[in-house]
Amino acid sequence: MKFYRSTRGGARATAPEAILGGIAPDGGLFTPEEFPKIDIGGLRGADAQAIWSEVLFALLDGFSRAEIEEIVSLGYAGKFETEDIAPLAPVGGAHVLELFRGPTSAFKDVALSILPRLISLSREKLGVKDGIAVLTATSGDTGKAALEGFRDVPGTRIVVFYPEDGVSDVQKAQMATQRGGNVRVCAVRGNFDDAQTGVKRVFLDDRANKWAAERGYRLSSANSINLGRLAPQVAYYFKAYLDLVRAGAISLGDGVNFVVPTGNFGNILAGDFARRMGLPVEKLVCASNENDVLTDFIRAGVYDRRRAFYKTASPSMDILVSSNLERYLYLASGCDGALTAKLMRDLSEKGVYVAPDAVRDALKEGFWAGSAGEREAFGAIRSTWERHGYLLDTHTAVAWAVYERFLREADNMCPTVVLATASPYKFASSVLEALGLPAADGFAAMDALLERTGVPIPKNLAEVRGLPVIHRDVCDKERILDYAKGAIA
Ligand SMILES: *Cc1c(COP(=O)(O)O)cnc(C)c1O
Repeated sequence: MKFYRSTRGGARATAPEAILGGIAPDGGLFTPEEFPKIDIGGLRGADAQAIWSEVLFALLDGFSRAEIEEIVSLGYAGKFETEDIAPLAPVGGAHVLELFRGPTSAFKDVALSILPRLISLSREKLGVKDGIAVLTATSGDTGKAALEGFRDVPGTRIVVFYPEDGVSDVQKAQMATQRGGNVRVCAVRGNFDDAQTGVKRVFLDDRANKWAAERGYRLSSANSINLGRLAPQVAYYFKAYLDLVRAGAISLGDGVNFVVPTGNFGNILAGDFARRMGLPVEKLVCASNENDVLTDFIRAGVYDRRRAFYKTASPSMDILVSSNLERYLYLASGCDGALTAKLMRDLSEKGVYVAPDAVRDALKEGFWAGSAGEREAFGAIRSTWERHGYLLDTHTAVAWAVYERFLREADNMCPTVVLATASPYKFASSVLEALGLPAADGFAAMDALLERTGVPIPKNLAEVRGLPVIHRDVCDKERILDYAKGAIA
């Protein structure tokens, strides 16, 4: 049996326990004690679902292969725009990995199409009779993907908190119109970090857990602090690599770079896991918007959140406390739980910590970091459209701008994959602005973008327009616990 250890050194858990629990009792994040190697050559003829099954089965001990295959099939078959799940599109000299072809048009779908069934199965395996109350903070995309994933799943309830003024019109409409008998949505007066901190606090509050238990519920998380969120994301790094091999762009064993638009460090950490599982990843390029705390950290080894918080056109990356970095610190420090706990304490008490040398060296070796402001990102949208006829969303545009800087500044000749994390239609008004077209909001912006580019609007986004608004709740950031209680009661 393989185990998963809290990054703060405390609890050790099986995969079902880690998935059901979400966060570890000491506030740490469950992280694999060992990383099994994937036989990449053996997957050469495999289809997308088979690649996902292989990676999930390897990473999540305690589930049978048949169980994993069923979860993968139920999660993806017929739910994504293509059976390929995440197609690889050639754009200029790069390869764009389209992770936004799922039911809510953001890359969060890849994991959140899988997580609800992983949680249900974990509950069964552990003989837990209580229902599961999933509390989730979202910077816009996780919320909708989680609501869709969990809606009407027996034995679960889901409550989503999003920053009131921190998401796009389309994202807000997607969540406000969510149907399902077990869902609640609440805007928070504050930013994403406030929402995430508030929700984490509920998980760690003994009284809140006791309160939920008395009502027949266990609290869990759909955020990327949950191991079950991370695991399905590891698979698409292998998928992209295999696509490059099959296309003849690389030979088995060649190194590949991945450029990742980063907020909470979940997506890019999945790339680090893939590397630990044997994928020949050359550099993981961490792309940030103006909230460039990770750029500074990767370059200089000091994590300092004491800085201005910017609301940008890439709101899902407007984050100053990147929760999954904790897993990287733990692994790169040689699984030093006491050290990781101390760094996290420094972060919450002083707002800053300094990485030890081992972590700095590992970062230098495996990563490259850059940030792009609004002007550069909008420039990337415009030039990629004009030169290559390919339409980027605002987050992928940050990645593209950083990719171009990487090409100029880093001495690196490996093929590069740029991860595309959302449909441009989720951020239609910003994309419109980037193209230099007259301003419009929400659905009018979608229409204008369609008319100008001819890129089809994803069906799920087109449908949101006709749906009634169901959710209008708003709460102060101090009231997240109270709201959650009301939603579970
Ligand atoms: C969540 C999100 C990101 C950031 O991903 P992390 O795993 O938080 O680093 C980037 N782009 C989009 C569109 C997202 O929804």
